[in-house]
Amino acid sequence: MSGKKGPYVGVDVGGTKILALVVNGDGEVLGRHKEPTRQNGTPLADQIVAAVDGALNNAALKAKDLAAIGLAVPGVVDSRTGRFVTAPNLVIDDPEVAKRVQERLGIPVAIGNDVNLGTLAEVWLGAGRGFRTVVGVFPGTGIGGGVIVDGRLQTGPEDLGGEVGHMILLVDGPRCGCGSLGCWEALASRKAIEREIHDALARGRHSIISAAAAEGPIKSGALREALEAGDDLVTEIMKRTGHYLAQGILSIRHLLDPELIILGGGLIEACGDFLLPLIEAEVRADKMKGSRDEMKIAVSKLGDDAVALGAAALAAQGDDAHGSVPNLPEDRPLTYPTIENVRFGVAVVDGKELAYDFYLRADGKLGKRKKKPVRAKYGTSHVVDREELEKVCKGEPRVVLIGSGHHDMVRLTDDARHYLDSLGVSWQILPTPEAAQAYNEAGGPKALLMHVTC
Ligand SMILES: [Zn+2]
Repeated sequence: MSGKKGPYVGVDVGGTKILALVVNGDGEVLGRHKEPTRQNGTPLADQIVAAVDGALNNAALKAKDLAAIGLAVPGVVDSRTGRFVTAPNLVIDDPEVAKRVQERLGIPVAIGNDVNLGTLAEVWLGAGRGFRTVVGVFPGTGIGGGVIVDGRLQTGPEDLGGEVGHMILLVDGPRCGCGSLGCWEALASRKAIEREIHDALARGRHSIISAAAAEGPIKSGALREALEAGDDLVTEIMKRTGHYLAQGILSIRHLLDPELIILGGGLIEACGDFLLPLIEAEVRADKMKGSRDEMKIAVSKLGDDAVALGAAALAAQGDDAHGSVPNLPEDRPLTYPTIENVRFGVAVVDGKELAYDFYLRADGKLGKRKKKPVRAKYGTSHVVDREELEKVCKGEPRVVLIGSGHHDMVRLTDDARHYLDSLGVSWQILPTPEAAQAYNEAGGPKALLMHVTC
């Protein structure tokens, strides 16, 4: 983690409720506040600020005590600008709501997708603890998801990463809420189940669920009751739902080979006892075998707190490692970012533009280079000394590269050279474009310190 060690506030901004948790750097909840979302014209930023205040009161803290705030919203967020793009179940009165909250409270505010962040929290503190490559699948009204590879959320350059519910599992199948045909969500969500029940009742099938179905949305709890009563129609449809869920999980497995699938969401909470054995059996019977059969399937542990905890995790990461799992044990190899492009003043690292000097450590941490200490000592940022390299070399690199700038202006002090020699690492100082190429080509564990200007 970077910067202050907290506390943070994570806010789950949902269509029906806003939950704010005050959380320390270890994920312990110090205070909480929950209130219904008012869709009556009260500005969303006001409601969020009120929820943050309520949680701070509960923790006997003040806003000035906070290191950062994270917001989790049910929709697509532009990770580069923090703007809301879409949120089907929430009235967005202000796409810049994160910025507004930041202005009001004077604290950095990060924002992300709710299910992505719920998955992040499960890997931080819940069912995914200790795992690095995990997919969260949350079937409820729709199917939300989150993908974490090597401890980092995969949101992608278009912020569509982890939208597992819209994988197309039945080409030209039933229409999804997103408009596409045959999405997983259109086959295996609570809404899909509801549609199948209505279709069957219209065809003259009988079921004890017909009374609930006539009243409005069929809740997951009503499905569970029908299953417990042995209702033929609901049992048949839920068996098919288990089959659809298992088939989608197999597709995820074949795409990513994750260590763990975490299942959560309203449908799993209510009907997990029925669905999980079906899913487990079908996944184990996978015809396309790997070298071993170790992928685990687990149920989420954090319940209603997961999303707000994930928002706190996002806040805790700051800009350095947006979307990384805090405190992830570093006991297994990482994959390293790619330097996609370097031009004068800007480097593009895994799609992210960095308009400043930066370092990439062997333990996966990406950080902004602090120029102040060397400027104070040497009157220029064109010097790298031992003290600075000691920070860059945390995490036991075997390869260390230093980008000396586009005009090769950066020099190492003698003690920096002696230090690198003493580590027994393979190290080079090269003009920045060459250093980028050498970094990309090097095998890990590797570290890089990059000067992006002259
Ligand atoms: Zn869809």
